[in-house]
Amino acid sequence: MKKDDCIFCKIAAGEIPSRKIYEDSDLIAIMDLNPTSKGHSLIIPKEHCTNIYDIDEDIAAKVMKTAKKLATKMTVALNCDGFNLLQNNGETAGQTMFHFHMHLIPRYKDADNNM
Ligand code: 5GP
Ligand code: ZN
Repeated sequence: MKKDDCIFCKIAAGEIPSRKIYEDSDLIAIMDLNPTSKGHSLIIPKEHCTNIYDIDEDIAAKVMKTAKKLATKMTVALNCDGFNLLQNNGETAGQTMFHFHMHLIPRYKDADNNM
């Protein structure tokens, strides 16, 4: 269910604009507003869930399948040299947006592509 005070719920519902790179019935992927590298993006379930503890197992599996597909495509498209998949749970672990998301972070030998 949509959470009224959640920015990622609003982005998923199209109420807040984003640069979308992928969408299906359960997920969207968008460019991160403050990227740490060229192409840094986020996979976000459309249904609100906070973290790895409360995400539906099937959606979690779909997030990982989609991460594999997008990382593979982005590696070719961006010609990056490596790739981080990152997912924070809880403030202590660095989570700042409390709607589950998986970071897709292309990495480059060329430091100019890191922000
Ligand atoms: P976390 O620290 O919770 O794992 O990551 C949250 C991420 O969401 C950060 O990388 C931050 O830049 C990104 N972010 C925060 N607000 C917005 C927003 O309104 N739009 C987009 N596209 N990204 C956002
Ligand atoms: Zn939400």
